This record gives sequence, structure tokens and C-alpha cells, in this order.
Amino acid sequence: MDSKSIRQKFLDFFKERGHHIVPSAPIVNKNDPTLMFTNAGMNQFKDIFLGNQPAKYKRIADTQKCLRVSGKHNDLEEVGIDTYHHTMFEMLGNWSFGDYFKEEAIKWSWELLTEEYKLPKERIYATVFGGDKGENLEPDNESLELWLKYLPKERILYGSKKDNFWEMGDQGPCGPCTEIHIDLRTEEEIKKVPGRDRVNNDDPRVVEIWNNVFIQYNRKADKSLEPLPEKHVDTGMGFERLVMAIQAKTSNYDTDVFQPMIKFIGDACGKTYGKDLKTDIAMRVLSDHIRAISFTIADGQLPGNAKAGYVIRRILRRAVRYGYTFLGFKEPFLNKMVPVLANQFAEVFPELKAQQDFVQKVVLEEEISFLRTLEIGLKKLEQIRVNIETSKGSKVIDGKTVFELYDTFGFPVDLTALIAREYGLEIDEAEFEKEMAVQKERSRKDAATETTDWVLVREEEGVEFVGYDHLRAKSKIVKYRKVTAKGKDQYQVVLDTTPFYAESGGQAGDTGVLQSGKEKIQVLDTKKENDLIIHIIDKLPTDVKADFEANVNEKKRLLTENNHSATHLLHAALRDVLGTHVAQKGSLVNDKVLRFDFSHFSKMTPEEIEKVEKIVNAKIRENIPLNERRNVPINEAKSLGAMALFGEKYGEFVRVITFDPSYSVELCGGTHVSATGKIGLFKIVSESSVAAGVRRIEAITADEAETFVDTQLSIIEKLKEVLKNPKDILKAVEELTAEKAKLQKQIDEYVSKEGQGIKEELLKKVETVDGINVVISRVDLSSADALKQLAYDVKAKVDNLFLVLAAKIEDKPQIAVMISENLVADKKLHAGNLVKELAKEIQGGGGGQPFFATAGGKDLTGLDKVLLKAKGVLKEKV
Ligand code: ATP
Ligand code: MG
Repeated sequence: MDSKSIRQKFLDFFKERGHHIVPSAPIVNKNDPTLMFTNAGMNQFKDIFLGNQPAKYKRIADTQKCLRVSGKHNDLEEVGIDTYHHTMFEMLGNWSFGDYFKEEAIKWSWELLTEEYKLPKERIYATVFGGDKGENLEPDNESLELWLKYLPKERILYGSKKDNFWEMGDQGPCGPCTEIHIDLRTEEEIKKVPGRDRVNNDDPRVVEIWNNVFIQYNRKADKSLEPLPEKHVDTGMGFERLVMAIQAKTSNYDTDVFQPMIKFIGDACGKTYGKDLKTDIAMRVLSDHIRAISFTIADGQLPGNAKAGYVIRRILRRAVRYGYTFLGFKEPFLNKMVPVLANQFAEVFPELKAQQDFVQKVVLEEEISFLRTLEIGLKKLEQIRVNIETSKGSKVIDGKTVFELYDTFGFPVDLTALIAREYGLEIDEAEFEKEMAVQKERSRKDAATETTDWVLVREEEGVEFVGYDHLRAKSKIVKYRKVTAKGKDQYQVVLDTTPFYAESGGQAGDTGVLQSGKEKIQVLDTKKENDLIIHIIDKLPTDVKADFEANVNEKKRLLTENNHSATHLLHAALRDVLGTHVAQKGSLVNDKVLRFDFSHFSKMTPEEIEKVEKIVNAKIRENIPLNERRNVPINEAKSLGAMALFGEKYGEFVRVITFDPSYSVELCGGTHVSATGKIGLFKIVSESSVAAGVRRIEAITADEAETFVDTQLSIIEKLKEVLKNPKDILKAVEELTAEKAKLQKQIDEYVSKEGQGIKEELLKKVETVDGINVVISRVDLSSADALKQLAYDVKAKVDNLFLVLAAKIEDKPQIAVMISENLVADKKLHAGNLVKELAKEIQGGGGGQPFFATAGGKDLTGLDKVLLKAKGVLKEKV
């Protein structure tokens, strides 16, 4: 069975059993501060498990793009080394929300695997939770009994809390799980060692394929467990591992999921997979990593220097250096794999195919820049080698250097160790680990936050957001909790009814006031956690049960709306002017500014910018009324021409914002002006590049735009005054610049002549002491450059030279020392050291090379002493 049919069969199987099939959520997590990337199928249903949201469907199934490279699940270092852990993989899952439980889940797992996929029954093992004394938890004998219907006792194993008790995080829903493992070894091997001894033993051919989690508890902040009123099933099966089992392979990379990519790599580097472990690992790394990189970029996460962007950058760099070191890819190669991957997944995850050129371009730029870094890093290592060889010191590269290579050049330790070995050197790994630990501790401290349990103030079914229609509302607190970060306490509050817009879709969260009687509590920000609207306040009201009036800061909100609506107009204008390849790649909208990132491959010309601005301002003056439609079925919205953004999670019903159906139709959850005229004026203040293929426009509207124009005009006014009100101010400035250039040229000529004259003087005064030609003299010059030039000019005429010049330059003392190279060697003279000594006389400092050095200082009166001292030193040395 090919992988495509295997995936389809899974979905069909659960569809037939009443499951609603949903699309994969984006791999990049936007509305969950606790999770950068989707790392399990259940992530997108977190709100349901947490009870923040009712389940629309009791049964759901899907295939979910997952990434396990950070946080709780980090498999990165294993990937490629082993044959069954990936960075990005598909997790097939089925869910029951308060519907069926253990019995059906186990039954269907068994049916699907053995009857549909026809996996050999005698090679299947199940693990169940064996209980935990410390937690006072009983073994999950319910699951054990259920499995006994299908499996003999010896193929069911008890597992520890670590393997068989699943928790969402430090707090939240959790429960026992039952894992399904499969033994893919040969008959002979099985005879030697029975499968049950290999389960959960890191044997690449006896692997876990499916995990069925039975969520029945809630873990509270004090670590205690509380039974949940509704019990849920949450399962996850590794698609690539399943395909391996069904296709009877012993490595995920031998399946048709990875083989196209492996072949493509092999053809490009002229190596065959399966001949040499090192090249095999490298091929696996590349074929795996390109998936993680491509799908995350397609979902809107660009490689960058921080957070999620940095994670992607590291994965990409890991791939580049494996390719560089083991497959001989010295030129960018990864980007060439993007189209292959895009075609392979065109039907399941069309977002990649749709953005193939863009993704390829981003990867290419990253590769180019990292290959450059790699070369610099290699040169640095080469330098270290030379240093160690010439100093004949220890043959160990110290841990700090290894860490620097790792941290700034992206050189993993094993690469540094490998190159070091080639040079006959070693690395101090222990010290490196120490440096690593220090860094980890630092970032842990930075990130450490403490969150208490929610304190429930009143039972409330759902929360109502009224902020599209109202800026104030009568509200009650539903629940609150305390969050402590960096020693500062804040409270997060959920209201039953709220007019506060929570930061999302680029629009900043509302601020405002919660008022009860005389007491006013400031709302500092409003954020979303999944779909929960959280108001951030820094102190709790005296009576949390009171009735409140929730007031949004109106001025700020209205200014923000100007910018948000202007962003829509801008988006449409960009597509008009630049073409329909323009797609939104990010946006930020607040009361001051709007920032819009979009895919486009070249810098916008001033004409294009002007054109865009003109279109937007024309649309503003048309005063187009807002057409806002809520709860539009997604397909209908799309047929209206609304563009869905890649990497955005949409429900079945969406909100559509239209400013003239023939101009701007967008899916958007943000707040907008009632008519475009309110925006007043739109002004682009910058256009720049944020990443390969992504441009950024920053613009302002309304008051800010007006202030901007006023400021610019007043600068012109002042300029006119300074220039004594010329008729044409541009021409006046041009003339001024031309004049300045002319004068500069004259000065240069003068300085050069001045230097010439002084040089002639000095040459006449050369004294010879013991075969050394000595010039020690006071000179007055107009620039430091002239002094340097003078020293070099004298050197060109006089050999065996020992020259010290003490100069007054623009009323400051300066010293120049020039010593012929042969004297440096023979007489152990050093201009750099000497100038430091001499500079003390003028209260200054300086330095330079052995043959030439300069210094500056503060005390002009010391110049004569400099000359005396120089003479003294010379006497001493000869
Ligand atoms: P393992 O112990 O093998 O790392 P896990 O216990 O971390 O697996 P779960 O969190 O239970 O796995 O995830 C559910 C399923 O997802 C697993 O049964 C496995 O088939 C698959 N899976 C987990 N991690 C990976 C990975 N890094 N690459 C591919 N598949 C994976
Ligand atoms: Mg794991």
C-alpha cells in the first residue's frame, strides 16, 4: 500500500465511525504563548480539553503537521542518526470529546491496524499504565482488560509514568495512555530475543507507532490531580512509522514518503544511499530537515534570530553543514529540494505548492548566508590551528572557543570536533558543556514564569466578545489567575462579556479600565490564549465578585482601527501595482503605526510607492462604507474572493471585511473604521527588506500622518530661512554642495603642499647616530592624515629610519612613530610600545604596529617632553 492510500484509509476509517475530518492546523502556533510549534495532533483542540470552549463535534480525525524541535518534545539531535524520529512528521489522530472512551478506542486501533492495514497480529505489543505509588495512582487495568480481547497477556506490558501517563504541561488535562508498538525484526532475531524485551528499548526496529491517551484528570498548580467531569480520547499515530510498518521496511527513510527525496539528493551528490553510514545519515538529515523548513516557512514562519525563527534557522543550518561536510554540497542545494517536496505533497498540504517560489527563495538566501558563515568559521578554526602550532602549546581547543563557534557560527560541537581531529587537535568538551549549561540556565531564568491555577469566580458557559459593536459593557469576572514573570506579579482575568479586543491578526490588544463603584482597575493589555480572551491587570479589584463596567480606551482603539482598515486598502493597492503574487506575510497594527510584510522579490521603486499611496488615499476619499459580515461559511467567503492567509487557522465560519467588493475583501477578525474617510490621510514612511523575498512597508494614518507632513514642511521652512529664502531651495542646496566640494579640493591641495614643505625641512635635519637615521622633531600640521602621510613620505626617502614626530593638530597634541622594519628586528624597537610610552607625556594613549604607530592626547605642553623622551629611548637602545 502506498503512503497516500495509507493516509486516506485512516481518515476514511474514522469517518465511517462518525468522525468529522478536519484540516491540519498550521505547524506554527500563533495564539498559544506556551508553544511555538504544533507538536501533537491535540494542540488545536486544547481549548476543548481545558473546558474553555465546547466541542462542536464529539468525534474528530485528521492528519496534523507536527514539529518536535523545541521545548518538551525535542528530537532534533536524534534525527537522521536514528531512522524513526523526524523533526517534522504527520500525526494521524482520532478524538472523542466526552463521547466514546477506552473500549472503542482500543477496539478501533486494533481493527484498523490488523484488518485494514493487515499488520501481522503476532508482532503487535501494547503498553498500559502500571500505576504510580507516589501519585497514588492505580494501574490502568481497564485498558489491560480491553487489550486482553485481542492480545495474549505476554504481549501487553505495564509502563511507567514517564511512558504511559500523558500530561499536556505542568498543569492541565492528563491521563494514562496505551501505546502500540510493532516488532519489525527478522524471524531469526525474534527467536533470539523476544519482542517484549525490545519494547521501549530504543531498538529502531521495535517502535512505538500509536499512542492512545485517555484524558481523565486535571493537573493543578499544586500538582494534585482532580478527575475531569468529561473524559476524552486523544490519539496520535506517527504516519511515517506506520508506513514503514505496512511497507515492511526497517527505516522510515526506506518508505515512499522519503525515497523520492533521498534519490534526488543521491543524484545530486553522486552517492548511493545504503553504502556508507555517514553519507546515509547526512541524506536522512537533508531529506528530513527540508520538510520541517519548507512547511514552517509556508505557514508563515521565516528563519530569524529569535524564538521560532531561530529554531528554523538552526534546523536549516544543521542540514547545510551535513550536506557540506558529508555530501560535498559546497553550493546552495537545499532550496532545490523544495519543488520536489511541493509536488509530493501537493494534494495533502497544498500550501507548499502554492508558495513554492517564495519558499525556495527564502531557503536559498539562508543557505547562501550560512555557507558564508561556515567558510568564516572554517577559517577561524584554521587560524586556531596555526596559533596552536606556532605556540607549540596544548593541542586542545578550549571550550570557550568551541562554544563561540557553536553560538555565533552555528558550528555544532561534533563538527568542530571532527575538523579538529583532521588537524590533529582535540576539543575541551567538558568546558564546552559548562558554557552550554550556563547559557541554558540564563535562558531558562529569562523565560521562567509561574502561573497559578485559575480561580473560578462564577460558573459561566462561554464568554461573549461584544467589541465589534461596543466599546463598553457590563461585565463580571469569570475567573482569574496570577502570573509571575521576572519577579513581577500580574493578573489575568476572564470576563463573561467583554468589549476588549485581544491581540490577534496583527492588531494590538485593547487597553482600558474595569470600573466598579469608585474603584478603577487599569487593563494593561488584552491577549488571547487559544480562543480565551485574557485581560491583563496589575492588581486585583477588592471585590472580584462585583459588577464592573468595562471601558475600552476609545481614542487608542479608533486610531488602531484607522491603521487596520488602511492595511486592507494597502494590501489591495499592492496587488494592483505589483501583481497578485503579493501575499501578506505578517502585519502589525496599533494606534501609532501600521506595518505590513508581504512577499515580493525586489525593492519597490519610488514610483511604485507613490502609486500605491495615491490609490490608498483615493480610496480613503471615496469614503467607502465598511461591509462587515460575521459567520460566513468559509467556502462562501472564498468564493467572494476573500484571500485566506497561509498559516492561519480558520474555522468553518469566518468574518469577512469588505471595502468595495471589487476592491478589498478579506477574512479578518480585527476591528475597522465605519467608512474609509475616517482614515483621513495615508503616508508610507518606509519600505525595506525583512528577509529574502519579503518586503516591509511602514505607514501612518490620520493624526500621525498629519503630524508627519507638518514636521516635514516645517523643516523645509527652516531650511529656507537658513539659506536666506532662495527662490529655488533645491538648487540652492545643490550649489552649496558643489561649492563645498570645490573648497575641499583646495584644502587638500594646500595640505599636501604644506606636507611637502615640511618633509623637505625634515630631510635636511636627518642626523645619523650609530648608523641609524634619526628624525625627532616638532611639526605643525592641519590633519592627522597629513601627519601619517608625512611619516610615510620620510620613510620612503630615508632607510634605517627612527622617526618621532610631535605635532599640534587643531590644537590637540599628536605623536607619530615610524621605525624601519630592519631596526624593529635588529634593535628590538617597537613603534607601538614606544608611542604608548611617549603618549603619557601628553596625557593620551595610542598604539599600532611595530613599525608605525600613532597616539593622541590632551596636554599640548607635553609635546617637547615627548621629543626629549624619544631621544632618551634612542640613546638607551643604541
Ligand atoms: P518516542 O518515544 O518514539 O519518541 P513519543 O512517546 O514521543 O515517541 P508521542 O508523543 O506519544 O510519541 O506521539 C505519538 C506518536 O507520534 C508516536 O507513537 C510516534 O508514532 C509518533 N512520533 C513521535 N515523535 C516522533 C518523531 N519525532 N518523528 C516521527 N514520529 C514521531
Ligand atoms: Mg518522543
